[in-house]
Amino acid sequence: MRVRFPPSPTGDPHVGMVRSALFNYAFARHYGGTYVFRIEDTDAARNTEQSYHALIHTLRWMGLEWDEGPEAGGDYGPYRQSERGGIYADIAARLKAAGHAYDCYCTAEELEAGRERARAQKRTPGYEGTCRDLTPEQVAAHQAAGRSSVLRFRMPERQLNWNDLVRGEITFAPENVFDYVLVRADGSPLYTLVNPVDDALMRITHVLRGEDLLSSTPRQIPLHEALIELGLSERVPQFGHLPYVMGEGNKKLSKRDPEASFSYYLKRGFLPEGLLNYLALLGWSMGDDRELFTKQEMVAAFDGARISVNPARFDLKKCEAINAVHLRRLDPVDLAKRLLPFLADAGLLSGDAPDGHLANDAEWRLLLATIPLIQERMVVLSDALGMVGFLFAEEARFQVDPDDAAKVLTPEAKPVLEAAVAALAALTEWTTASIDEALRAALIEGLGLKPKAAFTAIRVAATGRRVSPPLFESLELLGRERTLARLRAAAE
Ligand code: GLU
Repeated sequence: MRVRFPPSPTGDPHVGMVRSALFNYAFARHYGGTYVFRIEDTDAARNTEQSYHALIHTLRWMGLEWDEGPEAGGDYGPYRQSERGGIYADIAARLKAAGHAYDCYCTAEELEAGRERARAQKRTPGYEGTCRDLTPEQVAAHQAAGRSSVLRFRMPERQLNWNDLVRGEITFAPENVFDYVLVRADGSPLYTLVNPVDDALMRITHVLRGEDLLSSTPRQIPLHEALIELGLSERVPQFGHLPYVMGEGNKKLSKRDPEASFSYYLKRGFLPEGLLNYLALLGWSMGDDRELFTKQEMVAAFDGARISVNPARFDLKKCEAINAVHLRRLDPVDLAKRLLPFLADAGLLSGDAPDGHLANDAEWRLLLATIPLIQERMVVLSDALGMVGFLFAEEARFQVDPDDAAKVLTPEAKPVLEAAVAALAALTEWTTASIDEALRAALIEGLGLKPKAAFTAIRVAATGRRVSPPLFESLELLGRERTLARLRAAAE
């Protein structure tokens, strides 16, 4: 079995694309097949190197390693279509020589007039076959008139059907599928040619792709058959079409929705484990209503049978909930390592930590000590910034959230803060338990306050926010000096 993921490098990778990559990966791995990664970059005007690198990074980050493709090589390369121009020109010429394709000289106006006629006669509008059988004289006349030509594929006049891996038997009537352009007038090949040609030459056996490409399949099957006839291919691949992913308001998730863009998940700090698990549920189910699983478990179960024909609804809240579960399962040292780049980006570390190593051992130990306080409370990695920023910020940069300060650090808070300072300054031992005991004695018993009234002021003064990890643990980690300095500053 040979399976492929052939994205076009335009813009940011998007969620639908990554879902296709994942389903093909799981399918290939389940059956012990080969996972081919091919870059469909024939559209020079829209493709960018940046997007190409983003695709590579996306697959690596998701852990969808490919067997053949860019950087991995393989027997059927090159795997970037921009490097395969000669192959397409050669195959186009052979298709034409065998009569499977022909030059079409129609102008845009003539094609539009044809579509008008079809609409008037209540036929499906499409190419009318004008240039299918031009005589040499007609060709000469078109050329003498200075007309340019495109290369069109000659569709067979028969029912077009296949047994879709997802949707079962599908049939298109020939009057709805028209001869289509393979090569532009300037000689550049189109998706319509290069995609099936590469699937054939790369010996792809199974094509799993989005439902938006369903109408391409009846055109591609006869092209595959022509390639077999020319001895260039062995078989027509089996096709399966994955259901649409719907966003808000039951509209197709569009590139304009921020959560459709893969970079959104990187920025917020989703885990590959969590995102993979969630994307797997977009059109597939493991059975037994089981919604939480790892990549290995998905691969073990992914035989293609439980891919749904119904559109999948994208639900960010669910994606977050699943991510949170995977995050809670992480080993604390692993979680701490994954947090480093976020802390470094936010300027909270004394040195850079680009590769997950921290120069400053004290900071690393501090980070490890915070993990038990935050792991259960986080949904994505970037959540940690708001939770532990107060521990890492240099004292000069520490700031109380202005809204929280206005609400909580009022004149009435002053005696509370002063009583806390006095009690904490007298402590001989700085531990969570001793802090807890001292503050309760001073504020609840001493001043007769309710716990919330007593501790909110301390929390805002010391951590900068009304929401923080558990207070006494936080103060222990913050240390006596910094705690007292912050409480004193807030009491002024
Ligand atoms: N390059 C095409 C796309 O990104 C591939 C479609 C296919 O899987 O055949 O839409």
